[in-house]
Amino acid sequence: MRTSMKAVTVSTIGSFICHERDIPRPAAGEVLVRVAVTGLCRTDLKLIRSGHRDLVLPRIPGEEVVGVVAENGPGAVRNSVGTRVYVYPGEWCGLCPACRSGAENLCREMRIMGFHRDGGFAEYVVVPEKSLIPLHDRCNFHDAVFAEPLSCCINAIELSRLTAGERIGIWGAGPAGTLLKRLASHLGADVVVIEPDGARRERIGGQESAVGEPFDVCIPAVGDSSAYLAALGHLAPRGRLVAFSGLPATSAHHAADYNHLHYYEQTVVGAYGCALRHGKTALDLISSGAVIVSDLVSHTLPLSALDAALDMVAERRCMKIHLNPQE
Ligand SMILES: [Zn+2]
Repeated sequence: MRTSMKAVTVSTIGSFICHERDIPRPAAGEVLVRVAVTGLCRTDLKLIRSGHRDLVLPRIPGEEVVGVVAENGPGAVRNSVGTRVYVYPGEWCGLCPACRSGAENLCREMRIMGFHRDGGFAEYVVVPEKSLIPLHDRCNFHDAVFAEPLSCCINAIELSRLTAGERIGIWGAGPAGTLLKRLASHLGADVVVIEPDGARRERIGGQESAVGEPFDVCIPAVGDSSAYLAALGHLAPRGRLVAFSGLPATSAHHAADYNHLHYYEQTVVGAYGCALRHGKTALDLISSGAVIVSDLVSHTLPLSALDAALDMVAERRCMKIHLNPQE
């Protein structure tokens, strides 16, 4: 049995090392998962190069993980060794008001994989047994790993109270914007995507800027305050703006016209992460083909290519990058 594995470790913000380190051991109620695919997202770029509110160092990043159960810790009995699983990235208390309301992503004790505990930029990861969702037989790893970003989109759409026939504007045609578009279309909404980049806009059939009728729901899926301001300005009466993408701390504060919100009964609601149940819904949507994801993967790379991969994310030269830690 091997005792060491390849992993990426961040010890100081702005740098990381790709090295051999001990394979972690699962404690009571935990499971060792052999990582098949870890999704790379813009949050990882922020976390590694600029830091993040929830990051505790030193850390192995990686919060979008699928793999195979390699070893059950004491008392972990739900999934036999060899089961293919998606890992819900949160560890929650189950007792606090947020948990009891079904929003464990807002748990006051929340520990996020890749932030507070080690994640999937490694050959193996230890996770709580209760965070595992077995995959459908027909769902491959590269599709299944989209359950995490799609879960965050499901949470945002839920909070937007979007209904069939409503008009939704999505700013940004990257992986998150594309998943939001496909989810909203599946729910019967009339979707417009606003994307300044010509190639991305063409790919999704979007618009360069918002014109025409205002939107019942606006979602900025790009961490750019100009998208937020445009979205706020295009809300219909009783429209809902979802604060979905995080902004750089230096550009997160903007004055709002509260009289406008007042007269038009508009709502601004935040959306951050996802709950376990969103993972189940996301896997159902992916496995059934209701939301297509496979065409979003632009690169599959080994951990050793992480720096180049982060550059591609920073410069928007890719769609979704998948890391294969076993490569
Ligand atoms: Zn809790």
